[in-house]
Amino acid sequence: MARTMRSKFPGWCKSCKGKFPAGAEIVWSRATGARHSTEAACDVAKAAWEVEKAKRSAVRGHADLTGVIEFITAARERGLKFPKLRVLDSDGEAELVLGLTGERSKVPGSVTVKRDREYVGLVRPNGDVVGAWDAPDLFDDALIAHLAKVGADPTGLAKAYAEFSGACSFCGTTITDAGSIEVGYGPVCAKHWGLPHKYAGVRASVTREEIENVYGTPKEAARGVGEMMPEGGFEESGSTFSAGGSLDAALRDTPEGIAAEMWTDYGFRM
Ligand SMILES: [Zn+2]
Ligand SMILES: [Zn+2]
Repeated sequence: MARTMRSKFPGWCKSCKGKFPAGAEIVWSRATGARHSTEAACDVAKAAWEVEKAKRSAVRGHADLTGVIEFITAARERGLKFPKLRVLDSDGEAELVLGLTGERSKVPGSVTVKRDREYVGLVRPNGDVVGAWDAPDLFDDALIAHLAKVGADPTGLAKAYAEFSGACSFCGTTITDAGSIEVGYGPVCAKHWGLPHKYAGVRASVTREEIENVYGTPKEAARGVGEMMPEGGFEESGSTFSAGGSLDAALRDTPEGIAAEMWTDYGFRM
């Protein structure tokens, strides 16, 4: 039995899928649920929903994130499944996490944006900014302007994030060794993201024990590196061990390869 009544709560009309507010006149039955009481009311709700949809999916502005897209795409091509970039928002405190939509998404290669873990929307490859469906207003002008800066210098902003948070912008883990604190990311992420991992202060701030924990004794490390570098090799001269040469491309992204390149680049020779 359908009956006409005033709705106590806001809801959705079963026949037009449009909204009705609390207090609206509706027709209700257990079998068919709530509906607008007249066709005219359905038409008004449908029109309102079209306006709402257009507002939610409207382009809110433009930000050129080509730099971020290339940066993340290159990390993906180096083998990372879901590369993400963490940067600070313009207030210097909130965390923005930027990712890239996959091939099966509606607009592949768009930059997704989360602020303090809440999804705020995405930036399409052509720069169009679209807010989150449920809360499009969260993607405001200040955020759009800030993202344009991130697009111009993703590495710089990644470092600033690490400096503030003590965590790597790329993998989110806490950075502990002095060299990585100096550059703003660890050696493994440096490889994945195609960044240099050169720093100046390692001798003063990293102990021999710490190096040995990672690479073995200097002699073991040098010998291992030398074996991986066929054109170079291992040399022992008194208490000095050194290794050099060029690394086989297949080894480049393995942990051993990374350690070997670190060794030859920064020369932990003692
Ligand atoms: Zn309706
Ligand atoms: Zn990392």
